[in-house]
Amino acid sequence: MCGIVGYIGPQDAAPLILAGLKRLEYRGYDSAGLAVIQEGQIALLRDVGRLDNLVTLFEQQPVSGTIGIGHTRWATHGEPSPRNAHPHMGMNGDVVVVHNGIVENYLELKEELIAEGAVFRSDTDTEVIVHLIERYLNGNLTEAVRKAVVHLRGAHAIVAMSTREPDRLVATRIGNAGGVAVGLGDGENFIASDIPAILPYTRRFVFLESRQMATVTADGFMVQTLAGEPVLARTTTINWNPMSAELGEYKHFMQKEIFEQARALTDTVRGRVDFETGAVTLAELKLSAEDARRINKIVATACGTSAYSALIGKFLIEELARIPVEVDYASEFRYRDPVIDENSVVLAITQSGETVDTLAAIEEAREKGARVWSIVNAVGSQAMRLADGFIAMQAGPEIGVASTKAFTTSVMDQYLLALYLGQLRGRLSQDDLRRHAGQITRLPDIVGRVLEHDQRYAQLAAELAVFSNFLYLGRGINYPVALEGALKLKEISYIHAEGYPAGEMKHGPIALINETMPTVAIVLRDHVYEKMLSQVEQAKARGGIVIAVATEGDTLIAEKADHVLYIPEVPELLSPIVSVIPLQLLAYHIAVRRGADVDKPRNLAKSVTVE
Ligand code: GLU
Repeated sequence: MCGIVGYIGPQDAAPLILAGLKRLEYRGYDSAGLAVIQEGQIALLRDVGRLDNLVTLFEQQPVSGTIGIGHTRWATHGEPSPRNAHPHMGMNGDVVVVHNGIVENYLELKEELIAEGAVFRSDTDTEVIVHLIERYLNGNLTEAVRKAVVHLRGAHAIVAMSTREPDRLVATRIGNAGGVAVGLGDGENFIASDIPAILPYTRRFVFLESRQMATVTADGFMVQTLAGEPVLARTTTINWNPMSAELGEYKHFMQKEIFEQARALTDTVRGRVDFETGAVTLAELKLSAEDARRINKIVATACGTSAYSALIGKFLIEELARIPVEVDYASEFRYRDPVIDENSVVLAITQSGETVDTLAAIEEAREKGARVWSIVNAVGSQAMRLADGFIAMQAGPEIGVASTKAFTTSVMDQYLLALYLGQLRGRLSQDDLRRHAGQITRLPDIVGRVLEHDQRYAQLAAELAVFSNFLYLGRGINYPVALEGALKLKEISYIHAEGYPAGEMKHGPIALINETMPTVAIVLRDHVYEKMLSQVEQAKARGGIVIAVATEGDTLIAEKADHVLYIPEVPELLSPIVSVIPLQLLAYHIAVRRGADVDKPRNLAKSVTVE
């Protein structure tokens, strides 16, 4: 789940690599390292902890060279330490590699290599790769890498560099351990696991498919398969603004991304909804009305926050298109032998488009003959390329590890999907569609109004930051919002929080409620309003503290709850997009109060590319 950056060209590589790694630090932050070729030798810098430590090391011991590779690590094998940090160097000191993934057969390979005389200097699985390359290195780095990597089991992204051929970098992708993009410059070229790392330098990219490798020089590149067959690679131009991957006036990326939601939602609907006729178009799904009518069920599969957005999507699609929807964690779906056929759709939702379990779920769905759609933020990612059709999230780069704008845009995408399917299947009239389109136009403004109350959340967070346990309750379409609110809090503040469907409270969690376990309840003026009110009463009756997210103008709730966070009135089906924002802000401010590192919470990484 690491970040990888490589550079070759006329410029000094190390500062460029450090700047690129900075933009990828969210990928892993156990340790970081870089290597350049300096006067014919490999100059290696590695340090444990955050990237800043590597930057300080670089300032103390500057290295210089016009070719180099760098890495931020998310340790899987071997503790985070300087010796386990990447890049890893071979015994002769003439090859280095950076690696993302797990070498599943590394013990076996290690034994074999030790028997051949290899001496291991780290506890990582990665080190076997560099010894294998050394085994085959005989004047052709590309060939040596190719012969080496065929021994590896598991999924990998690897970049290798050698002093014997200091004019090239060799990158390989096997399976779904994260992407490998070659960024094309003018007289210089780049390699990155994620394009934000190199977006300031180029917009033109070549994405490697699984079992492909690229040999990259300053003036060109060559792609081939692991079987050695040449590949005619396609160049993709990406139009993201590199500024959107920078912090600007905000303290944290998570904060910035929460505040970008009104804009992200506008971008999500732009060009997809005709506000005069109400018609919705999702061209990238490549779906005919006849195909739409044949769909017998949708299985949405995802992980983490995306899975909670899918639970909301279930309400939307079932209500508006009357297609049954199942939601399954991708890590379960892939091992479950699901009942799907050619009339089923598997809808994979992933911000990064590289989540390993979700990609495996896509493969499982394909094998069973289902149609595969994906909802993805990262343009050009695997989940986008592997699907029969996709919806691009339009959230822009999401850097904060705790997902926010990708959640709300994913819900909006599913809302559009539900309308589109409802329209194609003849379930929604023109009037219905126009009414929905009208509601959608007002949404960004409503979201903006919630964000204006940021100070209120900061104040309340100061009071709530002392507690160690929270319960989040919601019902109906806002039940998944309770799950998401609890997830946000635990991810970034390390406070234990449970999300529950409110009606289930009596079947267990009520036993936990007392004056030290606050309950956050979503009590909107919708068709379950009274039911939610009675849950609030029950929590109060047990001495609990209740924080309610409620509809503006609701005075009754103010009499019952200890704190009320008001949001503007919003139609029920769109309400999760608005009700989640107070929960995002509350989690953010509580984490800041507790001094937690909001953008890089411990043990987590942004895209989960290992199982
Ligand atoms: N398995 C390798 C390690 O533990 C790579 C981990 C990563 O993807 O950052 O060092």
